[in-house]
Amino acid sequence: MEFVSTRSRGVRAGVSETIRQGLAPDGGLYVPEELPALGPEAFEECRTRAAVAERLLRPFFDGDELGDELSEICEQTYGFPVPLRRLDDATDVLELFHGPTAAFKDVGAAFLAAALERMDAADRGRLTVLVATSGDTGAAVAGAFEGADGIEVVVLYPRGRVSERQEELLTCWRDNVSTFAVRGDFDDCQRIVKEAFQDDWWQRNRRLSSANSINVGRLLPQATYYAAASLEVWREAGEAVDVVVPTGNAGNAVGCLYAREMGLPIDRVVLATNENRAITHFLETGEWETFPTEQTLATAMDVGNPSNFERIRDLWGEPETIRRHLSAETVTDAEIRETIRRAAAERGEIWDPHTACAVHVREQLDSDRAIVVATAHPAKFPEVVEPLVERAVETPAGMARLLERETEIREIDASLEALREAVQSQ
Ligand SMILES: *Cc1c(COP(=O)(O)O)cnc(C)c1O
Repeated sequence: MEFVSTRSRGVRAGVSETIRQGLAPDGGLYVPEELPALGPEAFEECRTRAAVAERLLRPFFDGDELGDELSEICEQTYGFPVPLRRLDDATDVLELFHGPTAAFKDVGAAFLAAALERMDAADRGRLTVLVATSGDTGAAVAGAFEGADGIEVVVLYPRGRVSERQEELLTCWRDNVSTFAVRGDFDDCQRIVKEAFQDDWWQRNRRLSSANSINVGRLLPQATYYAAASLEVWREAGEAVDVVVPTGNAGNAVGCLYAREMGLPIDRVVLATNENRAITHFLETGEWETFPTEQTLATAMDVGNPSNFERIRDLWGEPETIRRHLSAETVTDAEIRETIRRAAAERGEIWDPHTACAVHVREQLDSDRAIVVATAHPAKFPEVVEPLVERAVETPAGMARLLERETEIREIDASLEALREAVQSQ
């Protein structure tokens, strides 16, 4: 099964090559040429998340250099639990935050690192993984790659636009990981990464890959936990489940949509966005417009130009068709606060601001069975959460260990030039 670029069907590659490249050479995003059809019956023998993942992804890896490694890659990806927790009669919470940096991106990053580590050593020796982050990606990728043999990781995040704790988790890495604080917003960071892929100096001096959610190596594993979670509900209740996904750059959402397109028992997919309105505006008006990034309480979803939406448009084309396949709701900061406050007071639940967006949307949704996707542990955002829930949020042990490390903040201007100088002078 090959992948093609959203910008030109002639640009195509196998799964390993797309993972190595990140972005397609024509600036488009790689998408599966077609999505294999696998109903729930295809997973009858699969009892673990790793087994479901392997079954789901097998068609993409057959005939590829990583084909024989897929089973181990999936085992490594699910090295930490990804539980589906019953919240009430009609709602389950898919907890994606039990990885090393306590955010859902740990799952995709683990898969990506496991895949890249197993690729041909000669290629690997020249590989630089470049990553723009709005908060959590950078830490997850750094955590998954720190110490990886022969792979260099460069992380860019917007200075002053991530939480204090996120910044600690972005700047505590060493060895093969360098982190830079960009004087700009997330879209600047993302732009710099895209420019590097088109730039002569970077092409000559580095073999670049991207660990952003544009990378197929992050997308594919994200489809796997939706597959496993929907099968769990299917086996228990015999019905297809609705899913509410906190959404920023729409990578997690695309994972869910791909799982459904492949035949998993998922009914409606509802994207919960914050006040960044590119997606809701598109669904309302049919016009794709990007907006300046708005700062909200759900910082990791502060994306004015959600690049993965290109994959959704590639899948269904016309706005009317896209509307039939998904919906999206805006959640304001006031609603985030209210959701966190009320959940703590009424049921003793503590949500992080991103998960709170999905919880709020789920509460408005008329559904007799829905999965709310929990994308971060509340301890990542104590300055928002603690005043609302009026108590201290306990830090998970893995994260506590990282917070004890020394940190170093290195600021650069929001330009490719500045990044090159910083990388050259280290
Ligand atoms: C990155 C992130 C999101 C948004 O995910 P996308 O794939 O960019 O839509 C949501 N919540 C948290 C905690 C995140 O880190």
